[in-house]
Amino acid sequence: MSSKQIQAVRGMNDVLPDEVHRWECFEDTVRAWLHGYGYRGIRMPILERTELFVRSIGEVTDIVEKEMYTFVDQLNQESLALRPEGTASCVRAAIEHNLLYGGAQRLWYWGPMFRHERPQKGRYRQFYQVGVEALGFAGPDIDAEQVVMCARLWRELGLDGIRLELNSLGSSDARARYRARLVKFLEQHHGALDEDSKRRLHANPLRVLDSKHPQMQELIREAPRMSDDLDEASLRHFEALQASLHTAGVTHEINPRLVRGLDYYNGTVFEWVTDRLGAQGTVCAGGRYDGLVEQIGGKPTPACGFAMGVERLLALMQHGGGLPAPRAPDVYLVHQGELADRFAERVAENLRDARVAVLLHCGGGSFKSQMKKADASGARFAIIVGDDEAAAGDVSLKPLRELAEQMRVSVAEAADIIRNGVTDDA
Ligand code: ATP
Ligand code: MG
Repeated sequence: MSSKQIQAVRGMNDVLPDEVHRWECFEDTVRAWLHGYGYRGIRMPILERTELFVRSIGEVTDIVEKEMYTFVDQLNQESLALRPEGTASCVRAAIEHNLLYGGAQRLWYWGPMFRHERPQKGRYRQFYQVGVEALGFAGPDIDAEQVVMCARLWRELGLDGIRLELNSLGSSDARARYRARLVKFLEQHHGALDEDSKRRLHANPLRVLDSKHPQMQELIREAPRMSDDLDEASLRHFEALQASLHTAGVTHEINPRLVRGLDYYNGTVFEWVTDRLGAQGTVCAGGRYDGLVEQIGGKPTPACGFAMGVERLLALMQHGGGLPAPRAPDVYLVHQGELADRFAERVAENLRDARVAVLLHCGGGSFKSQMKKADASGARFAIIVGDDEAAAGDVSLKPLRELAEQMRVSVAEAADIIRNGVTDDA
């Protein structure tokens, strides 16, 4: 009797072999794109001290209040958390290793993030983000660079219909002024607030604007606008950013209620949104976080960054049909006979020396059944080795994807033909 099956944790997905190739193509494009803008990779641990996220993301936020996987390490009673996002870790690492002594840094990372949310399409408990952070840059030029680079990535991935929403949260003084006005408005509509919003009304009123509660949407639309309270410097910064975007041909709309779900943002905030993924339409989000480095214990350092949701972008690529064909080996190596079996292993290694991808048949069976597997593998060629070939030290090469004759060639010739794709005049 078999034991009860063990299943994956809810909201945590396996990425199966058929999909992994798509992920890898996406990663390749992303890596080349980031290199093109001078961003350098950094890798942080998945576990951090809980305190890091509480201090940076903010105590009264969805993430810290109800989405974090937090536990106490039994060995030393330390409270640890699976990272819900990467910015705080990246900033911690930059401070801890004095990266900023070397001047401003353009950094990026990629990996799984964890949030205990209700799983649905485009919303998972383990999901992947590509995070991009520019530490030590104060001007609107870096904000513009980051927005323009996103627009380029969408083009390179063959994605269209992703619109840009922008807002400025202003300086902390401006936010304090706005906060007072917002609290007054929300108090006047206290009866219309949901439970979370009532709780946040005084602790963190800006979060009310980020509420996903359907009941709250109308009220949020009527709420006072941040833009009326913006300070001079933030206004100039925001206008310069918009002018750069205009020059670069990147269109945007201002969304005065865009506040982002994390407390560390100030000044510019932005989201890239599509209508093609239902409710989970934000594929990329970010902005300025000028106070965060100091908040985590570093010297005051202005900064700007963003994160993309990989699953949502891949779903959008699937939607648009811009998917790479699955990857197959170059050769399926068929062999039978005692001498042939040993020779085939050597042939496979020699071909790999010549950078040919070889799937060596394992498990025996007739030539006929092995050839069926060769066909199904998607390989462009079969190489057939019998005792005859083994004795002569050569192979039979058979193109599988076109009408061409099987030919008897040396291993070196086979490698040449496979790599150069020339089969007719060999
Ligand atoms: P949302 O409003 O959809 O909850 P968020 O504001 O919480 O998003 P961020 O913290 O800004 O998201 O993360 C950046 C991006 O990461 C999001 O725009 C989204 O594409 C992706 N993302 C966030 N949470 C999830 C999740 N639970 N599952 C899949 N992707 C996610
Ligand atoms: Mg969220």
